[in-house]
Amino acid sequence: MGDMAEKRRPGAVKGAKLAEYKAKRDFSKSPEPSGRGAPSTGASKDPTRFFCVQKHLASHLHYDFRLEHDGVLVSWAVPKGPSLNPADKRLAMKVEDHPFDYGEFEGVIPEGYGAGIVLLWDRGTWEPEPGFENVGKSLAKGELKFRLNGVKLKGGWVIVNTGSRGGGEGRSWLLIKHRDEWAGAVDVVSRFPTSVKSDGDFEDILAQENPDVWDSHRPAKGGEAGEMFQRIIEKALALKQAPAAKAPRAKKAPAKKSLAKKSLAKKAPARGARPKSRAR
Ligand code: MN
Repeated sequence: MGDMAEKRRPGAVKGAKLAEYKAKRDFSKSPEPSGRGAPSTGASKDPTRFFCVQKHLASHLHYDFRLEHDGVLVSWAVPKGPSLNPADKRLAMKVEDHPFDYGEFEGVIPEGYGAGIVLLWDRGTWEPEPGFENVGKSLAKGELKFRLNGVKLKGGWVIVNTGSRGGGEGRSWLLIKHRDEWAGAVDVVSRFPTSVKSDGDFEDILAQENPDVWDSHRPAKGGEAGEMFQRIIEKALALKQAPAAKAPRAKKAPAKKSLAKKSLAKKAPARGARPKSRAR
């Protein structure tokens, strides 16, 4: 009875789908949701579903892009983050499905898989574009067109599998903005770096959970995990110190802010309106 009953219960978390997620984590040591929570929409006829983007400072900074589908969050890791410029094709590596209740997660993963800091960078709803309503089939075929209604990301997008070209056994996809009124040249990840949940950046999340961390600079655990976390703390520290050390080119300069709004409103201007020098 187990299988059938589970499939038919609208709120049921798909156990098999989350097997990889669960296998990678030790929930006695990670604050991440263990996947027991029930998804909200299930078999509802409402086509809008939850989506989120989690900025994840782990061994490498990346943005986890997640779309609710069939009771879980189908997930991709986007190293450079989403771009509002339709000319940008952002690499998105398919990763394991995450539990629905992961979508609101923000915090510090002190050790183990994904050790680092997770920041809820955007969230909202999504819906498939006409012709892509069968989301499972569209994903299996390697192309899904959809609309986002988030805080930072809106309008039409496509995520498309590169097939064997990516060399990653079909795990390589490209996330691309469609040309519409929500497209633009503003560098959305650097211009709007903070959390939609707490309004903070990595250092705020870290400091909030580990008030002593700025004094000790020392991870709670030793060994490899401890070293990894040490590096992440150092990265977060560097980010924290950067604005103070380089005050004149701060991201909060008022003059540039109005410029950003202007370019947001503009229709898909040519690329390069803003140098992408922030990463270093
Ligand atoms: Mn991640």
